[in-house]
Parts: sequence; C-alpha cells; structure tokens
Amino acid sequence: MIDALDLACRLIACPSVTPADAGAQDVLAEALAGIGFAVHRPTFGEPPDGPVANLFATIGNGAPHFAFAGHTDVVPPGEGWDAFAPRIDDGWLVGRGAADMKGAIAAFVAAAERVVRGGFAGTLSLIITGDEEGPATFGTAPLLDWMAARGHRPDLCVVGEPTSATVVGDTVKIGRRGSLNAWIEVPGTQGHVAYPDRADNPVTRLVRVLARLKDRVFDAGSEWFQPSNLEVTDIAVGNPAANVIPAKASARVNIRFNDRQRGADLEAWLREVIAAEAPAATIAVRISGEAFLTEPGTLSATVAAAVRAVTGRDPDLSTTGGTSDARFIRAVCPVVELGLVGATMHQVGEAVRVDDLATLTDIYIEVLTRVFNLVSTSRA
Ligand SMILES: [Zn+2]
Repeated sequence: MIDALDLACRLIACPSVTPADAGAQDVLAEALAGIGFAVHRPTFGEPPDGPVANLFATIGNGAPHFAFAGHTDVVPPGEGWDAFAPRIDDGWLVGRGAADMKGAIAAFVAAAERVVRGGFAGTLSLIITGDEEGPATFGTAPLLDWMAARGHRPDLCVVGEPTSATVVGDTVKIGRRGSLNAWIEVPGTQGHVAYPDRADNPVTRLVRVLARLKDRVFDAGSEWFQPSNLEVTDIAVGNPAANVIPAKASARVNIRFNDRQRGADLEAWLREVIAAEAPAATIAVRISGEAFLTEPGTLSATVAAAVRAVTGRDPDLSTTGGTSDARFIRAVCPVVELGLVGATMHQVGEAVRVDDLATLTDIYIEVLTRVFNLVSTSRA
C-alpha cells in the first residue's frame, strides 16, 4: 500500500529546484509502475531553462479518461532551514514542496492505487512536469502536444495546486486571471540639475507614463472574476548623485487581468500610452497566460461533491491567485484545481498538516469514485 506521507517525504528529499529533477520523477515513476501504470518520461528543452523532466503515466482503457496534473519542481529553498530534509513537527509535514505540490502528487498516487486495486472502467492518467515554477516552456505545454500526438486526450482534469485557503477543500479554482509583465526603459540626456535646459530628464516622462497606466480603470470584474489590476513593481534610476539629471529611467509593471481583457489588447494599450508620453522609450512585454475559466458544470460539481462527502463542507469556487498550468490544460478538457492549504507555499518553513494529506487523498478517491461511477470506498 502506498502511504501518501511516506511518498511525499521521499519526493521532498529530492532538491528539484526548476529545472533540476534531482530524482523526484524516479521516485514517482517507481511508485506508479508498481501500481501498474505505463510510465512515459519525455524530456524537453536545452540549457539554461532545460532539459526538463516530464512524466506521463496512464492505466486503463477508453472513456472516461480522467487525469491528475501537477509539477515536481519547486522554488528555491531560501535561507535558514533544511528545505530538502522533510520532517514531521507537531502534526505538520515541513519541507520545500510540501504544499506546492509534492504533497498533492503523493495524494494523487495513493488515491490512484486505491481505485486501481479496486478495479475501474476507463482511463486514469497523471500529467506531471518539472517546469511549472520556471518559465513553463518545456513542461505541460509540450507534454500535452506529446500526448496528443500519441492519442492521449483526457476528458476531465484536476490540477493539485495548493488552492485551499485555511482548511483542505475550502477552495476549488475554476479559472485563473491572465498575467502580463512589461519592462519600460526611457532614455534621456544626462546633465547638471542646475541647467535643465541642457539635459533631458527621463524620470519626468517615466512618472507621467506610470501615472497614466495606473489611472486606468480596466473593468469592474465579471461574474467569476475580480477587477483587472495593474501594479508598478519596480522603478529604477540608479542615480548616485543629487546634482545630476540621469541618462535613463526604467520601470516594470504587472497586469493581472480577467476574462474581459485580452493580453494582446493590453499590450497595444501600453505601447500607445508610452508612444504618447515617451516616444523614445523601449518596451518589452511578456504575456504569461490569458485569463481562463472552466464554467461551473459537471467537473466542478463532481469535485465539490467529493469535498462535501469527505469534509462536510461546500468549497468556494474561485479564480483568485497566480496563474497555473491549468492555463494549458484548459485547451484540451475541462480543468479545475484542488490541493492542500497554500498559506506557506514558496515560503521558508513551507508546511502542511499531516492530517490534510490523508483528507486530500480521501477527496481524490471520492473524485475518482464519482468519475468512474464506483461504489465509494474511501470512508468504508
Ligand atoms: Zn505549484
């Protein structure tokens, strides 16, 4: 029998900071092969962002095809703790990736084992990447292409990101906002502050650009989304002298946007404002994902029913938070996200309750039970 806690510990012990795998997918592959999964391990990409280890494991035949999806890579550990030496402390599992999201992957496997051993009709898969916390170039997106080329197309998918806010199962994500980063650099002419007519201060123009950008009210939100928002995340001039007008000034902004906006339109607007206020400025834009939504329906109802069966609570359906690889999967099939409590994700001292691992495993078993129309076994 696979124990989710033991498997989570063995995964956490692998220092798989993106794009390194450090043996994490070997641990996972061995566990899945032991249950009877056919395990495929396509590697994509080249340095510096690759190569990236990916894993697709599948068992069974025909419809329905249900997939769990997630990532074995983690963010860097930070200072002051032994991030890759998992330990149990007063009922908490502590280690990098405990919440985001090796704990959920361990729960996927424990739940899968339960259902596979009990017998089911359909197809069950795991879509796992080592490039979610990084640029996500060599991860889920090419892995989905790899799958499509071989005829693997899930009908439903649950991503195990740590969506829960305070208690496991309290929040299911049914979509995510889009995200756009822009880097703006305004050139000027350096000179003495006492002779401004002989110089050209780029800070004046940059401040005007940023004020106009920040002034825009994008929308009032939509049925499932909060309003779109722009934040200035950095302003850099790097001028050490009080009597010098600097030669350049730069800034960075991020826009989190809902389903009323499109990345390309926002980029065009940014370029328009900058062209008007600082014509010589350069701008680089990266859209890391468009907003997406899996309209509440069969999948979210199934997951909500599973949460209710195990915890007695009704989860909130939410679209808050950062983006996730569900942005790629939504092009293939309905996708929602449900995982552990994310309060400590990416922090020093990342931890989840040991009990929550068991609860999440039970919820995943209930999801599979409903998807495959099995007789409930999790709370037998
Ligand atoms: Zn994650």
